[in-house]
Amino acid sequence: MKNIVILTGAGISAESGIKTFRDSDGLWENHKVTDVATPEAWKREPELVLSFYNERRKQIRQAQPNKAHLALTQLENDFYVNIITQNIDDLHERAGSKNVMHLHGEINQSRSSNDAHLIYDIVDDEMKMGELCELKSQLRPNIVWFGEAVPMMEQAIPLMHKADIVIVIGTSLQVYPAAGLLDFTSPNTKIFNIDPNSTMDSNNDNLIIIKQKAGTAVPQLVNKLINKA
Ligand code: NAD
Repeated sequence: MKNIVILTGAGISAESGIKTFRDSDGLWENHKVTDVATPEAWKREPELVLSFYNERRKQIRQAQPNKAHLALTQLENDFYVNIITQNIDDLHERAGSKNVMHLHGEINQSRSSNDAHLIYDIVDDEMKMGELCELKSQLRPNIVWFGEAVPMMEQAIPLMHKADIVIVIGTSLQVYPAAGLLDFTSPNTKIFNIDPNSTMDSNNDNLIIIKQKAGTAVPQLVNKLINKA
């Protein structure tokens, strides 16, 4: 069986009603990224950061996986499938995908602000100041903020090396190091990019760009790949 790696970004969840990252005004859900998604913001105004992610969590819990998330699960009968997502939502898991790696953390988890290995599930909707980890330090969202290292890259890179097919869905490829993962594919890897606003370099012979929404294009591509497998 061939290896497929699926690299997803905020665009795959857009049709589930979750906004993508930067709107045309450069804001994320009406906030400057530097006010809510950096270690400096957490130091300066932790209440604002917690309330921003509490809102995102509520929104995500109300959202449902869409046709794109659901179609990807069908590939698992005919291919070894790994999903590497930049998303903090859990829509791939709720659709039924088995191997999902979250490069930038997960909205339903908190972690110790002193030890990144101490990770907990968030059962309630809200995180609050004063909630402590077992080492008695404040819990923070388990999100990789801008300016922080992305430890999952170490596990993501070998998956790219051995991929026969890579499907890139709904990411502007502006956020590094995640965007650099495509540099680790082998020269023969077939790459598909599904994004209505794709900016990938169309001169690459191994690249097929599909400028359509994920909910339309992913089920079609999945059917084609399964028929050829
Ligand atoms: P991005 O917002 O920078 O890019 C989104 C891309 O999706 C764009 O290229 C856009 O053209 C495309 N797109 C929009 N609607 C689409 C659709 N229906 N089908 C296919 N493509 C569509 O997002 P990014 O590259 O993922 O980077 C954003 C960062 O913000 C990530 O680190 C992520 O953690 C975070 N974020 C996550 C979520 C989420 O978990 N759902 C939402 C917003 C932001």
